[in-house]
Amino acid sequence: MPMTVTEIRQGLASGQFSSVEITRDYLQRIAQHNPALNCFISVTEDLALQQAGAADALLAQGNPGLLTGVPLAHKDLFCTDGVKTSCGSRMLDNFIAPYDATAVERIRDAGAVMLGKTNMDEFAMGSSNENSWYGNVANPWNTAHVPGGSSGGSAAAVAAGLAPAATGTDTGGSIRQPAALCGVTGIKPTYGRVSRYGMIAFGSSLDQGGPFARSAADCALLLQAMSGFDARDSTSSDTPVDDYSARLEQGIEGLKIGLPKEYFAEGLDSRLARVIETAIDELRKQGAEILDISLPNTHLSIPTYYVVAMAECSSNLSRFDGVRFGHRCENPVDLEDLYKRSRGEGFGAEVKRRILIGTYALSAGYYDAYYLKAQQLRRMIKNDFQTAFDSVDLILGPTTPEVAFKIGAKTDDPVSMYLQDIYTISLNLAGLPGLSLPVGFVDGLPVGMQLIGNYFDEARLLQVAHRYQQVSDWHLQAPEAFS
Ligand code: GLN
Repeated sequence: MPMTVTEIRQGLASGQFSSVEITRDYLQRIAQHNPALNCFISVTEDLALQQAGAADALLAQGNPGLLTGVPLAHKDLFCTDGVKTSCGSRMLDNFIAPYDATAVERIRDAGAVMLGKTNMDEFAMGSSNENSWYGNVANPWNTAHVPGGSSGGSAAAVAAGLAPAATGTDTGGSIRQPAALCGVTGIKPTYGRVSRYGMIAFGSSLDQGGPFARSAADCALLLQAMSGFDARDSTSSDTPVDDYSARLEQGIEGLKIGLPKEYFAEGLDSRLARVIETAIDELRKQGAEILDISLPNTHLSIPTYYVVAMAECSSNLSRFDGVRFGHRCENPVDLEDLYKRSRGEGFGAEVKRRILIGTYALSAGYYDAYYLKAQQLRRMIKNDFQTAFDSVDLILGPTTPEVAFKIGAKTDDPVSMYLQDIYTISLNLAGLPGLSLPVGFVDGLPVGMQLIGNYFDEARLLQVAHRYQQVSDWHLQAPEAFS
């Protein structure tokens, strides 16, 4: 059974194995299984072994940091100093980042070892990892199925035991949805909790970084390392960071958990609903009080998101012009030709679709009808949550409407693909934290349950997930083909 970060820390502290040994094990597993899964875009073997050697020296001195010697992987959206950072795009296939993202820097300062960079949908646009320039990623539970997206490489790598943990980013569900589809735990923190500095921007008012791991206790460690104020991100929050691990063991007696009726309505596969109801019964047994609530504007979240996210991406991606970053076409005849062909060749179909729609929505004459309207709906969606949090401590629902679908099943139908995020996207619009944890299987594929917290209530999400993981073993299951 693949190890957790918690177990690796114990093994390193007790001298059961060294960081170099465990790092070599993971590099060997990557070499063996990555051809079937395609979860890594780059494997940084030399760097990993060098960092592991340095970690072993620190461990020998008896003064380790939070993650000293623990190997992990980063989504290829985080800039990594001196290492290719492609964002899943041909546009950045030749881009070597000249600095580390803040989240990467903090994880490195905590002592972690970087195994490599994980595959993802191009510029984080997608729900299935089928939009990557580097090819799709397979779901380790059934390689004919998608791992979810856009952080599909990170989720699949953790599920298959190619890394004990990995980073991801979530603009509309890209941590929680692949975590659910791959049977791992992932948390998207409150907007502003983890610095966006050095994260290649998609929708700047929605993007948040966070961790994937095998357990809530592991996510607590990773999130602790990643979180906190950063002067280099103007939207970073100076709210103090809780001690996530210290709060894990608090019980959940008397905790009021709300079930939004809109999340258990038409559209949710009834087999998933049954699995989630069993998990809810377990939380009730642990002392939680379960209440019915309503988030009446849920149906507006997908259309609202696809105006806001596309508008923001059309602006963010204008910097990729063939002049300053990444791909440049051969022999341009003039500046316009350079822009057109560099962008035409560098971006894939989904990215182009979104830049076009976003540019349209922001154009003079349409701004009020689309962008302004979307901002108004966004406020209504946020207010729904605030009203709900007047009567409950936490909101619970499914993470996705169905389990992992077959590769290719939705590629010709973008709207059906967009609907995958129906339960996750509204949190990004509101800026709220959400966690997905595995609670069972349907057709041999994992089912994720989502916990939604009030602003900066990550500790409570981790605590409830941890409580559930103390009395269940879904999170410890591993796909047989990669054991
Ligand atoms: N699936 C959503 C999209 O395609 C969300 C992606 C994300 O969170 N990065 O935009």
